[in-house]
Amino acid sequence: MTISLQNIISLVNAQVIGKITNEVIETISIDSRSLQNDGETLFFALVGPNHDGHIYIEELINKGVKTFLVHYIPENVKDKAVFLQVENTLEALQKIAAYYRSLFQFPVIGITGSNGKTIIKEWLNFLLSPDYNIIRSPKSYNSQVGVPLSVLGINEKHNFGIFEAGISTVNEMQKLQAIIQPTIGILSNIGSAHDEGFANIGEKIKEKLKLFSDVSVLIYNKNKTIDAFIKPEIKKFTWSCKEVNVDVFISKKSILDKTILGVKTTTAKFEIKIPFQDDASIENAIQCLMVLLYFGYDYIVIQDRMQLLYPVEMRLKLKNGMNNSTLIDDSYSSDFQSLKIALDFLENQKQFKKKTLILSDIFQSGLSNEELYSSVSQLIISNKINRIIGIGETISSFKNKFLNAVTYKNTDEFIKDFDNLTFGNETILIKGARTFEFEKIVSLLEEKTHETVLEINLNAISHNLNFFKSKLKPETKMMVMVKAFGYGNGGFEIAKLLEHHKVDYLGVAFADEGISLKNAGIKLPIMVLNPETTSFSAIIQHQLEPEIYSIKGLNAFLQIAKQRGLKNFPIHIKLDTGMHRLGFQEANLPELIAKLKETKVVEVKSILSHLATSDDLTHNEFTLLQISLFEKLSSTLQKELKINPIRHILNTSGISNYPLAQYDMVRLGIGLYGISNDEEEQKYLENVGTLKSVISQIRTIQKGESVGYGRRFMADKTTKIATIPIGYADGISRHLGNGVGYVMINHQKAPIVGSVCMDMLMVDITHIDCKEGNEVIIFGENPTVIAIAKLLGTIPYEVLTSISQRVKRVFYRE
Ligand SMILES: *Cc1c(COP(=O)(O)O)cnc(C)c1O
Repeated sequence: MTISLQNIISLVNAQVIGKITNEVIETISIDSRSLQNDGETLFFALVGPNHDGHIYIEELINKGVKTFLVHYIPENVKDKAVFLQVENTLEALQKIAAYYRSLFQFPVIGITGSNGKTIIKEWLNFLLSPDYNIIRSPKSYNSQVGVPLSVLGINEKHNFGIFEAGISTVNEMQKLQAIIQPTIGILSNIGSAHDEGFANIGEKIKEKLKLFSDVSVLIYNKNKTIDAFIKPEIKKFTWSCKEVNVDVFISKKSILDKTILGVKTTTAKFEIKIPFQDDASIENAIQCLMVLLYFGYDYIVIQDRMQLLYPVEMRLKLKNGMNNSTLIDDSYSSDFQSLKIALDFLENQKQFKKKTLILSDIFQSGLSNEELYSSVSQLIISNKINRIIGIGETISSFKNKFLNAVTYKNTDEFIKDFDNLTFGNETILIKGARTFEFEKIVSLLEEKTHETVLEINLNAISHNLNFFKSKLKPETKMMVMVKAFGYGNGGFEIAKLLEHHKVDYLGVAFADEGISLKNAGIKLPIMVLNPETTSFSAIIQHQLEPEIYSIKGLNAFLQIAKQRGLKNFPIHIKLDTGMHRLGFQEANLPELIAKLKETKVVEVKSILSHLATSDDLTHNEFTLLQISLFEKLSSTLQKELKINPIRHILNTSGISNYPLAQYDMVRLGIGLYGISNDEEEQKYLENVGTLKSVISQIRTIQKGESVGYGRRFMADKTTKIATIPIGYADGISRHLGNGVGYVMINHQKAPIVGSVCMDMLMVDITHIDCKEGNEVIIFGENPTVIAIAKLLGTIPYEVLTSISQRVKRVFYRE
């Protein structure tokens, strides 16, 4: 992409502050983590309800970025760069993208709908790629921000575009239409429910159809409700499996694990085979078929290509690898745009200094190979990758473009040489086109553990964080509690994500939790809630910040701090306002004040207290008393010591129920992990953890036979039993045995029968159609952790934190 800076300035009507030195912009960035050719980058400081891109400007100037498009100029960076000031930075981004799109004249498919957009896009890309140089949205970049960024990826060599558009409320689609300017429309499955952002299904359909206001043809599954909203002047190309009054009638039959589609057009009749059986995949495949028919493809070509459709993996997964390494598994796609995204993720999650990239040939960049691999090399240099392992004929022939690279002609050659390579103490990004079958490499590198995994959705964590931020004043600081291994969800990975989101503080229970985060490279300040006297030296050494809750603790800390010659070491003063667990009480204050007055060794960074019943409004009065006592005691400290520290008292349910007491900071815990005490609020949170296993074995037992230890399950009829490799040693309570709890298999409830064993449990699958090896959900969307806690008569906190460390955690980002 190259646009002249003058052009951008006049397009968005920007006021220029500073002296322009570069004529053209090569890259547009909104994300401080991903940068290449920094000097020619224009950084857009986007502002959202919970996010302000302006805070990254200083860091970016230090990295060499010279030009910024901003809403305001932050104090600390005045005179240090060139600023293009506009009213609304997102609108400016959209305007530039729309202008840039209009410079190209080639077919562009625009896809919208409730489901299937990304799969249809990926499949069309696969089906059409032999004949076109295609630009498509990377991953699911379909939002108000994602669409402009996708479109800005077009270059002179592309001759076909496929972009998806996603909206959540009214008046969003016309903006995306102006940017994508589709010439061919596909309306994917709309779904029967209306989403939060729409008054009714009609409004939702009408809004989505705005993407197609200027297409030369619209492809969709004919349906009366939708027909009613389509403007008569739009040319339609329709299909159906039910109605005959369509352009293409489709019949379906399944054989083994495939589906045969009978295709009947006005001029031809033939069959194609696709390797799927589920309704959603069939529908998505038909939408793709329609495009091929529209372009007049011969049915032989259609048959050949469509039988090769494959499951689309849209997620980047983070896994534990061999010899203490971390793997980022992105082994299903390889194109330039998604390489950038994967490298961002690597930067965001890197736990080790050393970074290795295993990369296959890259297809369809639209560029010549020479240009492509030069850009790849530049990208790799700016991401400071230490080692490249290139796999494929083409990348091998460009080996000299990379420093420290080894290359192999194909995946098998790499596997043959595997024992001669060393991997360990590093982060490894595995990024390859499907044909290279990099899943074989992933399985070689993966740490070998059993099949039970706790999958953590990093997007959901970001969503939940933003949800709680949106309930607070913009200036209120956020401490996130990551104690107990992030409530069982993962320590480092979550801390790293929080660091990216620029939360202000992390909180842990014990010093060793904080030390391992610091050792892994976390730079955020970390408060230790329960510092033991024996850990004070370690706390000081690792720059952790202790919570001080007693005179005895203060004396001990002061003594060590003085020996080390420290000055103004940050500490946090805990007040007991009614929890009666830890903290100074009113009577201790005079002594505390006297001690603190006479020392310069420590500095009171914050004053805090903890609410005992913020989740239970029947104790409303007690909570208000706690808050007013906090106000009184903390004010006394402030006044007497002439200090102005951060004050904080709210945990998750405090944020929900007592926002007036947010003071200067809040301490978010369980809410981040997707759990609220409030049923209404729960609807707005996203599920974070999904505990999954598989069926190891299936057997049928007869009436009178028993299952498991103590013969506690007796069959009263012929019963099908499945064994799942997860037990109480993994953190599944024995109290869930004997019919109390259940797991989900193929969306159906399978009750736990007999006693839960140490490493296994058995479930009744008499009424469930399933096979050995099938997936089993222990908790996630259903059953939820909350539901399990109810069954057990405990709280979700205990269920989450009980999942043992031997259960592998896999982190992913959509
Ligand atoms: C754990 C903890 C929190 C967070 O509580 P949630 O209910 O999980 O939000 C806040 N403050 C203190 C002192 C804690 O120990």
